[in-house]
Amino acid sequence: MNALPSGGSTRSEAAELAAAGDGQGAVFADLHLHSVFSDGTFTPEDLAGRGRAAGLAAMSLTDHDTVEGCARMAQACQALGIHFIVGTELTAEFEDKELHLIGYFVDPHNEKLLAEMKKFQAVRKSRIHEMVARLNQLNIPLRAEAVFALANCQSPGRPHVARALVKQGLCPSLEEAFERFLKKGRRAWVPKCKISALAAMALIHQAGGLAVMAHPGLNHADDLIPALAAEGLDGLECFHTKHTAKLSAHYLNVAARLNLLVTGGSDCHGFSKGRPLIGGVKLPGIYWQKLLAARQDRDGRRAVLTAASA
Ligand code: AMP
Ligand code: FE
Ligand code: FE
Ligand code: ZN
Repeated sequence: MNALPSGGSTRSEAAELAAAGDGQGAVFADLHLHSVFSDGTFTPEDLAGRGRAAGLAAMSLTDHDTVEGCARMAQACQALGIHFIVGTELTAEFEDKELHLIGYFVDPHNEKLLAEMKKFQAVRKSRIHEMVARLNQLNIPLRAEAVFALANCQSPGRPHVARALVKQGLCPSLEEAFERFLKKGRRAWVPKCKISALAAMALIHQAGGLAVMAHPGLNHADDLIPALAAEGLDGLECFHTKHTAKLSAHYLNVAARLNLLVTGGSDCHGFSKGRPLIGGVKLPGIYWQKLLAARQDRDGRRAVLTAASA
């Protein structure tokens, strides 16, 4: 990961960002993207190129349970003059509800984070075996090896099973694969191991990151947001492909009330979710400048604490 400084961004970023943009004064970011290092179909270089074409000034790679693609993405973004933020999306639970937490600015070399993610990846792999075994019981002759070959990454998931089913002619479409077999409660669905949200936030924080609740509109856990904020949640993904304008406005209100940072992104998975979504959600520059400022603030406070305890 030579291309990547710890935390993935440096220098006077607010100034750097103010200089970027669409040529008409507006700057936008897409801070929720998946690559071939988890269940997306684009390489980090593809994403950077498409982000550039979409006029994005900043991007984050938020692969599930891994930061492996971040070094390449940082390099590709740098070559195109796009600001890059390291990210990863963790599956967590709080009060029996599943929620996804994104860690922005985590140190991609943080040992504890890497060790934990390795465990999540191992569970993901055994889950693929279990899902395939269930499909086999339904007389669907899919082999786990075919899924792993297609996934070709450390963080395989249900979309890879769906794609393997389609590729092998065992199911006509990705949607149908989820609908018939893989959706929660369907016969080949296997629950995913989830870290507690409090442990996930602690993991992100000890790796120098900020913890943001992804797509709250999909979590049906609005009632939990105040408690999570009290426990250290840093931000809320108010803008997301699946959020209507009304829902985004609602979460902007929640974020303002709870003093949470505002983020947004498309959650593009390339062709894994039908069509590429990158750039379809444009987070206005003001919000990611606040995100960067929060990170710099936090780093400043850490430096003071470290100096005081030395
Ligand atoms: P996993 O992490 O293995 O549970 O898989 C979750 C991934 O599957 C996420 O990227 C979801 O967006 C994707 N996914 C969930 N439901 C569907 C669906 N009905 N169609 C396509 N992708 C889905
Ligand atoms: Fe995904
Ligand atoms: Fe998610
Ligand atoms: Zn995602």
